Amino acid sequence: MIYLDNNATTKPYPEVVEVMTKFMTSRFWNASSAYGQIDGLEEVVETAKAAIRMLIGAAPDDEVVFTSGATESNTWAVAEGARRAMGRGWVLSSQIEHPSISEPLESLQKQGMEVRLVPVTRNGTIDLDKLAGIIDSDLCFASLMFAHNETGVLQPLQEAASLLRERCPQCLIHTDATQAIGKVPVSFKGELCDVDLISFSGHKFHGPKGIGGLIIREGTQIQPLIRGGGQQNNLRSGTLNIPAIVGISVAANKSWEFLQMNLSESICAVRDRFEEQMSSIFPNVNILGSQTQRLPNTSYFGIPEADADDLVYLLATEGIVLSTGSSCSAKSIEPAKTALLMKYSYEEASTLLRFSASYENTADEVDLLVNKLRQVFN
Ligand code: PMP
Repeated sequence: MIYLDNNATTKPYPEVVEVMTKFMTSRFWNASSAYGQIDGLEEVVETAKAAIRMLIGAAPDDEVVFTSGATESNTWAVAEGARRAMGRGWVLSSQIEHPSISEPLESLQKQGMEVRLVPVTRNGTIDLDKLAGIIDSDLCFASLMFAHNETGVLQPLQEAASLLRERCPQCLIHTDATQAIGKVPVSFKGELCDVDLISFSGHKFHGPKGIGGLIIREGTQIQPLIRGGGQQNNLRSGTLNIPAIVGISVAANKSWEFLQMNLSESICAVRDRFEEQMSSIFPNVNILGSQTQRLPNTSYFGIPEADADDLVYLLATEGIVLSTGSSCSAKSIEPAKTALLMKYSYEEASTLLRFSASYENTADEVDLLVNKLRQVFN
């Protein structure tokens, strides 16, 4: 099988599976229990938090809270934003956020909250001029994604956050960095210094599913979303998922090493080879966001007059796995909403497929895929 749907999920590193198995079989204790403490599980959790901080370029005093994944982290961030805005002001986001941001915001809007959404340009980046035009001092919360799950476009987050911070010093700023973490260097101390909260998910960087987290900048006060036994300093109750925590810890370390060694360049070379070959065989191919900075592994492309759903199915029967965009909306019969927002036509949007590579994909696999597409269209 040629797996090219790594923005949907990635294969866990073998070391992740190995360490998780060990913790599920012989160190399965409850971390809050006496024997869990004797066995050093609290240190295991601290080590995992340190690995996440390193990957995200966070400082030792920034809080890492483990959640069930980015959906929960995003829901939590929006809930905190709503709490702050209630009766005092409004909240801001963009038109292209993942449903785990846009759906809770829509629900808040129905309850009477003012939500303003920044539009997107033809390139798939949020429109900074429009952003500048809609900010005012009543803004209480902003959530803007780091990298888009379908186009892979890296958003001008640093510029956006610095503008927000300048105009609204008290505003809480959140980013959903789920697709960026592990694929490109991220620095909470550096370019994200104006951001207060970051969401992430382990399975997007070769860690386990069902675990992710929220990074909370030191000094940021936030109310828990999930209350109960008071685990994680009362910020997120629930028995700690130690196997997943050790798994995400190993994945974070390996992803950090990978980025340190600039190995994402080889993934980029695989993606670029694909796009070069596609452009020469199909001169009218649309490649969304190719004029701007993107994740090195992602290509969101459309062959004119192809039907994306048919093509995905046909390739799957040949053992080549791609998707028609975000897997969260794969069952929807609507064509890609993001492409329509980028002013592609309904017909063009219906042709779009997402190629998303990992370190395991090779040039030979790209050649096989391109040849298959050539045969189909001949
Ligand atoms: N945000 C983005 C940008 C995503 O791509 C995803 C996963 N598709 C999520 C949030 C949600 O992650 P999870 O399903 O792991 O909760």
